[in-house]
Amino acid sequence: MVSDRELVDKWRTHVFRPAADEVRALLERFPDRRSLTVPFDRCGTDYRFSAPLLEQPDRTLEAGRAALGEFAEELGAREGRIHPDDRVYLRVTGAPTSVRHSLSDLGTEHLNRLVTVEGTVADVDAPGPRVAVAGFRCDHCEELVSVRQPGRFLRRPGRCRHCNANGPFTLEPDRATCVDAQTIAISDDDRTLAVELEHDLVDAFSIGEEIELVAIPRARLDGETTTGTLELEAVSADPENENPVPAP
Ligand SMILES: [Zn+2]
Repeated sequence: MVSDRELVDKWRTHVFRPAADEVRALLERFPDRRSLTVPFDRCGTDYRFSAPLLEQPDRTLEAGRAALGEFAEELGAREGRIHPDDRVYLRVTGAPTSVRHSLSDLGTEHLNRLVTVEGTVADVDAPGPRVAVAGFRCDHCEELVSVRQPGRFLRRPGRCRHCNANGPFTLEPDRATCVDAQTIAISDDDRTLAVELEHDLVDAFSIGEEIELVAIPRARLDGETTTGTLELEAVSADPENENPVPAP
């Protein structure tokens, strides 16, 4: 198993150092701009980087965000300092064909792994805010406890970091940090799936458009039954190339 520290170092050496100018451009516009395109090729032939990115994308992308924060300091960026709570999108593109699936292929074995899928945009919801960091008031000591929200299901604090009580906690909606988010649906001949988009991908696509997604399939649970719905969390999304260059 590749350690988190090793992953952070791989992000720095394989991805961020060769793209120092792009990272600088991101930092200059941060926090308005929060996304960086990462061609999968940058993993090179390093199996100890590409395998965790495909099989454990949550942990590997988290290491990438930590590495970006470290690299920003290395660049001596005074503005655009990235805090671990900041949401940054590492938009991995061009994942290998081994993880390309049709929508109907996707099943439980793909949950929380990286996949590439294609489909036609079938529906587009109105964009809205989604909580990136939620603030909770500890009912015991009344201090505010913030909890990073990596997914769409609200995470609550385990223990209060001020008084160590394990709750109860009250959500303080006006202390939340939000990002732009949108749900769309994509379909192929056999299946339609919901796709969660955030930040620069919001409002980027319209109904009827063919798109290619690098995504993480998630099981959406309603909290009542044990039956979930499969949906996709977009890592990157691009209009499909309608006139692909023929292979030489
Ligand atoms: Zn407390």
